Amino acid sequence: MGKRMSEDELLNSFDEALENGSIFAVYQPQINHATGRMIGAEALMRWKDPEYGMQYPSDFIPVLEENDLIYRADLRIFELVCLLQKKCLEEAIMPVPISFNVSRHDVFHKEYVDELEKIRQRIDVPVRFLRVEITESSAIGGLDLIDSVLARLHSYGYVVEMDDFGSGYSSLNILKDLEVDVIKLDMSFLSGKIGGRGGTIISSMVQMAKWLHTPVIAEGVETMEQADYMKSIGCNYIQGYLYSKPVETELFLGMLQELQHEPLKASMTMVESMESGRFWNPDSIETLIFSNFVGGAAVFIYKEKDEGKVEILRVNDKYLQEMGMNLTAKDFIACNPWNHHEKYSRITYENAIKKAIETGEEQTCETWRTFHSKCCGESRFCIRSTIRMIGRANDQALIYAMVQNVTNEKRRYESLLQGDNLLRKAFDHANVYAWEYIISNREMHPCFRCMRDLGLPAVVPNYPEPVIESGLFPADYADMYRDMLEQIHNGVDKIEAVIPLTISRVPFHIRYTTEFDENGKPLKAYGSATLVVDGEAASKKW
Ligand code: C2E
Ligand code: CA
Ligand code: CA
Repeated sequence: MGKRMSEDELLNSFDEALENGSIFAVYQPQINHATGRMIGAEALMRWKDPEYGMQYPSDFIPVLEENDLIYRADLRIFELVCLLQKKCLEEAIMPVPISFNVSRHDVFHKEYVDELEKIRQRIDVPVRFLRVEITESSAIGGLDLIDSVLARLHSYGYVVEMDDFGSGYSSLNILKDLEVDVIKLDMSFLSGKIGGRGGTIISSMVQMAKWLHTPVIAEGVETMEQADYMKSIGCNYIQGYLYSKPVETELFLGMLQELQHEPLKASMTMVESMESGRFWNPDSIETLIFSNFVGGAAVFIYKEKDEGKVEILRVNDKYLQEMGMNLTAKDFIACNPWNHHEKYSRITYENAIKKAIETGEEQTCETWRTFHSKCCGESRFCIRSTIRMIGRANDQALIYAMVQNVTNEKRRYESLLQGDNLLRKAFDHANVYAWEYIISNREMHPCFRCMRDLGLPAVVPNYPEPVIESGLFPADYADMYRDMLEQIHNGVDKIEAVIPLTISRVPFHIRYTTEFDENGKPLKAYGSATLVVDGEAASKKW
């Protein structure tokens, strides 16, 4: 750096500096950290005075802004960018798109966008080789103004980047109001503290950008650790000293020829039906629905290749309630959700996620969790999760999960099962054979006594054929018995008959009671066989 020039010295030499090339552009490449290819570059203004030497942008840019001169300097940089691109095209050097900076003061000049267009057309550079960087602070003059500048830039076909995203308090609001095409995330406020709060902020911003289909470029990346961290959260585009400082034209042309290029892309493709942008808008109907009407729901990123890591993006209150969690959504998002799973429940859950990714179809699974609390000690919950993939990147999937606490339902079922067991044991003592006949698959589930006395397996498929074949049912009664079961299939609610069983033709009273679902469809029939008492048997002929 040279000797620092005073404000007066800067202002006095400005016109000359613009003309004689003391004000010029340097270029900093932007790289895809995953592939090593160049995706673009940013032009940065430099001022090298013949007498005083190099001046800091942080010194001279504010002076130019305060004196309404930045507008002219920015147009000059734009012209230099166009000239460089033209040179590349003429010399058959494949250019990358170059971004140029727009000061928030520039947008106050009504003719600014038209001036840019005049220069571009004069030099004759296709607009796809140019990108515009605006800053959040451009909105200080009012959203309407920057909005109309944006609309004009878009109408000419410029890609617009939001510079220094995340540095201002209003970032999130700005993003939903302004239609920018690329987000530049400044890493400098992270200052090495990866993984802490800064990391959480950065990762949620990247996630949000994905939802908006907006590519993110991380700038100010100085270390491999930072670059790898950004890659791990799905942001591969890097600009910073790690790859290169801003360099002068000749060196930049060399890099252009050395490195391969690739286009800039949003990092995650969404399932088409999702209106993702609206989802993040706090005022949208989607948010209203998510928060109030869908029951317990969460949205998270699943990283299959990264040890199945999960990053929660959003949960509603109902989700935490269903899970019996005494946490706020914010606290829950900050924790590792796998910590709430036991080993086997994690395996079950992860398999369901994998299947949802593989098939693209909704999956359901049930997992038990144990919670320890000071007041109530230990309690067990059964959670039924319905899992759907709503977007995916290379090795990350965006998952929507709905949860339902089905503990009570499960408990009821368990006690039913227990009751069932009791009943089966009771039959064992009484003179009754009992079984269940499942209508949908024609399975017969015998009681213990049936199994023991008649040698039946726990499940008899294709009932009654195997028992007819075995001779338990005499052949002359087989058709009659088949017909009884047919009537059950057709919806008869009670049916009974006396049938002689086994080769000794012992008369048994066979009764069926059918159970129906809420639509009146027959589900199963409970069958029983009791030995016919002597008097009854005597009145019949066998
Ligand atoms: P900016 O637009 O955010 O530009 C990025 C700044 O970060 C540049 O500083 C760049 O040299 C620096 N940088 C790049 N990689 C790293 C890194 O790894 N670590 C660190 N610590 N810094 C890195 P520079 O060139 O000093 O420019 C500073 C600011 O001046 C720019 O910030 C921009 O706001 C303004 N500026 C630069 N050129 C222009 C221009 O042509 N027009 C306007 N209006 N403003 C400009
Ligand atoms: Ca910039
Ligand atoms: Ca920046």
